[in-house]
Amino acid sequence: MNFETVIGLEIHAELKTKTKIFCSCSTEFGAEPNANTCPICMGLPGTLPVLNEEVVNLAIKAGKALGCDINLYNKMDRKNYFYPDLPKAYQTSQYDIPICSNGLVEFNYEGKDVKVRLNRIHIEEDAGKLVHVEGEPISLIDYNRVGVPLAEIVTEPDIRSVGEAVAFMKALKGILEYAEVSDCRMEEGSLRCDANISLRPVGQEEFGTRVELKNINSFRELQKALEKEEKRQRELYQFNEGHKVVQETRRWDSGKGKTIPMRTKEEAHDYRYFREPDLAPIIISSEQVEAIKNSLPEMPDEKRERFLKEYSLSEKEVDILIGDKGLATYFEVVVDKGATPKIAANWILGDILRILKEKKLESKDIAVLPEKLAELIKVIEAGKISTTAGKEVLDELFVTDDAVMDIIEKKGLMQISSSDELEKMVLEVIDNNPKSVEDFKTGKTQAASFLMGQVMKMSKGKANPKLAKEMIDKKLMEI
Ligand code: ADP
Ligand code: ZN
Ligand code: MG
Repeated sequence: MNFETVIGLEIHAELKTKTKIFCSCSTEFGAEPNANTCPICMGLPGTLPVLNEEVVNLAIKAGKALGCDINLYNKMDRKNYFYPDLPKAYQTSQYDIPICSNGLVEFNYEGKDVKVRLNRIHIEEDAGKLVHVEGEPISLIDYNRVGVPLAEIVTEPDIRSVGEAVAFMKALKGILEYAEVSDCRMEEGSLRCDANISLRPVGQEEFGTRVELKNINSFRELQKALEKEEKRQRELYQFNEGHKVVQETRRWDSGKGKTIPMRTKEEAHDYRYFREPDLAPIIISSEQVEAIKNSLPEMPDEKRERFLKEYSLSEKEVDILIGDKGLATYFEVVVDKGATPKIAANWILGDILRILKEKKLESKDIAVLPEKLAELIKVIEAGKISTTAGKEVLDELFVTDDAVMDIIEKKGLMQISSSDELEKMVLEVIDNNPKSVEDFKTGKTQAASFLMGQVMKMSKGKANPKLAKEMIDKKLMEI
């Protein structure tokens, strides 16, 4: 029997605020353990939360970027459960009236336009982090992350393959980054997801039993965890053991490469949700929503359209640039500083990406000022240095602050473009190679290429190839 895969994701994105959701502690990542804490986020009795307005603004912004309806009246609720990294023993979240409802993410996957509906976005506080000490029967708790604001984005079960799920996450990350609502640093946990997956026989309308995979924080892990779970479920169904697919939460163990049961899925009533009595409802005006909507910068698909229209680049080139906001911005500044778009894209997608990869850097770390790359491109286009020499200069620009022309001079890379100098070399090469000249005269045109090679050799690669070629052709015709 053929099975169809059904996936729905619940994504947690840390909202980019300076301070936490209910207190004024810093949200900075990487501080000393427990340095960013106070009685409020530590959940001490007698303290009262105050909602950070910026959290509401960023959630509205995320909602507008993702095509959601904003609920002008919404409220916070308590989700009760005990966990050592949750000092209040309840998480302040949103239950029946989230800040955003509905929404849609559209993206391209393998040439197909895919639409994934969003069910909701709600705001809540993050929990702390447990550090299990290797080989010792103790765990340490870092409460710095407690109270960092999160937007939880819940999709409908509209995703139909593992590849689509990964492509969706990439598209979503792009939108959140462009909207500047979250840093989306997956390696720091500021963007992570729980993946729900089930299978059903092709043609069956009813969904199968789903399994939830917890806390996945990279595209690769998402892909691997889903593939593994998809295979596990498929095998159970194929061996008529479908009843063994139970609704549960499983943890992805990347080291072991498999999913491990954590707990059977809890129902909403297990959480004893109730209205947060310490916080007033959140009331938003439509003017506020309108103003935030208007403040949204250009989103990835708009930028994509514009890039395709404004610059003569291929779709593939545009997609790579757009896929990384930092890269797209860098490209536009380089073009703005006078570089030809196509050539700028070639350099950025070729050598710059290569260097970033070698140095394990991200686009935000491109050490070469865009005006310097633009200058380098212009110098090459003017034929003052060769493309090969240009690559050498670029490598140097990544490690020094020197000016482009200084590097070219220091390394002696300037091309020989003076016709006097070129003529001298061409004549000498012609004199030294009478056989080739003879060949050329009898119609063997490739002899000219050989002579060209000799000129390049004599000039140690510095002859301007275009001018040298013209000069050789001219001299050969004159003989
Ligand atoms: P709960 O109320 O238990 O949180 P929801 O209906 O809100 O469950 O769904 C949680 C997530 O699971 C959503 O992202 C949803 O798309 C996804 N989901 C629901 N049913 C299925 C299913 N049968 N297969 C895969 N994903 C599912
Ligand atoms: Zn605090
Ligand atoms: Mg739900």
